[in-house]
Amino acid sequence: MRQKGLALIFCFWFMIVTVACTAVNSEAPQATVESSENNVNPQPNVEQKQTAYYVDSGLFKIHAVNDSEKVGEAEKIALLTFDDGPKGIVTTEILDILDKYEAKSLWFVSGFNYGVSIDQPDPAKADRFRTLVKEIHQRGHLIGNHTWSHANLRQLSAEEQKREIASMNQLLEEITGEPVRFFRPPFGADTDVQKLYMKEAGMQTMNWSVGSLDWELKEAEQVVEQVVSTIHPGANILMHDLPIQVEALDTILAQLREMGYRFMLPTELEPSLAES
Ligand SMILES: [Zn+2]
Repeated sequence: MRQKGLALIFCFWFMIVTVACTAVNSEAPQATVESSENNVNPQPNVEQKQTAYYVDSGLFKIHAVNDSEKVGEAEKIALLTFDDGPKGIVTTEILDILDKYEAKSLWFVSGFNYGVSIDQPDPAKADRFRTLVKEIHQRGHLIGNHTWSHANLRQLSAEEQKREIASMNQLLEEITGEPVRFFRPPFGADTDVQKLYMKEAGMQTMNWSVGSLDWELKEAEQVVEQVVSTIHPGANILMHDLPIQVEALDTILAQLREMGYRFMLPTELEPSLAES
């Protein structure tokens, strides 16, 4: 009886090993018999690297698409965003600092840096705008829409709102050759008209979750402190291509990286928006 029991246990063990080997082999079809035998006690599964990210439309945090239950808890990721540019004063310096940390970012640009309208370019600005947007895009960053004139959409008619968004999209798509997917309303002032426009255009509205206050603080150290003290997993950080940010950004990225943060871009629209 005891021998029979032992035989059963052995059979059961053999079955588990066989199943484990099959599983290992299915992950690595070219593995030889020898190597699969070496994997009888395989390493614990290394967490699969996430490659798809989206920003939710509630708290505007960046999430891994396949990891929604960990949102805001486990994964130390942050989205870097730059609004109102490209101003051209320090844009390339900002890009150089981002490169140093291999960090990609999302730029919500406005057409007032180009001219009065798409048909009335400012000769002193338009070429610079094109060159900078092209450079930002070519260096691996995303370009988003921040309205043409940095308007408060709540103060405009429906037609004016649509024109603000559409003309910006038109110019950006002409420059980058890609559709614009993300929109940030100036002052965070979204409207029903704008939200409907986003839905129809397959775009997503995005505000932010961490304000760097680089537009009102006077010292770079204060900007660093503001970001580092309010950072959280999934943070969507609002910054500008301003001189104070050139001073602050290197330290911000160094400190965040030391805290374990990685800098990710949204690669998808929020799944619920993409489905609708
Ligand atoms: Zn703005």
